[in-house]
Amino acid sequence: MALVGIARLASESELLEAKSRVQYFEIPSRSILNRTKPNMPFEWTINPYRGCEFGCKYCYARYTHEFMEMGVQEFEEKIYAKQAAAQLLRRELARIPRRDSIALGTATDPYQPAERRFGRTRSILEVFARERGRRLGITTKSDLLVRDLDLLCEIARGNMLSINMTITTLDEKLARLMEPRAPRPELRLSAVRRISEAGLTVGVFPNPVMPLITDSEAQLGRLAKAARDAGAQYFGGGPLFLMPCAQKVFLPFLEEHFPKLAPHYCSQFEKSPYLGRDYKEQLRARIEKIRDRYGLTSSPTEYRPELWQEEEQPTLFPLHNEAVSDQQSAISEKAAR
Ligand code: SF4
Repeated sequence: MALVGIARLASESELLEAKSRVQYFEIPSRSILNRTKPNMPFEWTINPYRGCEFGCKYCYARYTHEFMEMGVQEFEEKIYAKQAAAQLLRRELARIPRRDSIALGTATDPYQPAERRFGRTRSILEVFARERGRRLGITTKSDLLVRDLDLLCEIARGNMLSINMTITTLDEKLARLMEPRAPRPELRLSAVRRISEAGLTVGVFPNPVMPLITDSEAQLGRLAKAARDAGAQYFGGGPLFLMPCAQKVFLPFLEEHFPKLAPHYCSQFEKSPYLGRDYKEQLRARIEKIRDRYGLTSSPTEYRPELWQEEEQPTLFPLHNEAVSDQQSAISEKAAR
């Protein structure tokens, strides 16, 4: 339900107060495309910022600030915009195969508040809008993405584009606790609707799924239904994992807000940052069942962008004609017998 009146004002004032402790910087970068490890579903990542103001308690990307000799808390308080992101991208794209998949927003949210000020994500999309044949996936928790619908539609005409909206829960209070400065779940769902109405490929991910907090069949089912009703085509979900940098924030958060769960999480995650195979298997089966119930797929369906058809016709046509005439002569031979 939409917040109104004083409740809406209160949620907005919380955001303004939080903003006052965030500092923005610019940082030079040697490159903008980062190669992933083998077995990832994409070959390259792009992160226009270092740090993320949304400050999710479970965020695994806090290690990126540790690389800069900063604490895990500074990840959400000191945001660095990468300089010359578009120029770097233009140069680096020319060196990689067109078919490679590129994921935008894997260690930062490309549509966090800093984007309003720096526009780095938009400058990156302007580069993709002039490309053909690329495969680009964008992951965000922000409805600010709809600002760029014009560019996104342009990209989708010549490239394969998919947009992944992360919604961990529909419960606004829980979302505010876990993702203190991210847009409300309802705003994210509205963005899914706008993206879908614009004809773009969009899915919802409840990542990370947290045991006994967001993983019940009822919760995931409600979320999948809301996603489907908003026009999402696919729905996925992976379990929480907690590297040491994420444990430093998430475990104290649990002790404060979920004291009964905290000891279970502590004993589990001190053994390994990953949950066991049984849990993963149960969650996979649960999500599959929910997907079937609501007619959702597990990943974006590949489509042929409008501009590829024009470009591929000259080569496809002769082949097509050849195949058709072979088939026709086979039919006539058969009829003559
Ligand atoms: S939106 Fe993503 S990158 Fe940003 S804090 Fe949350 S989990 Fe981390």
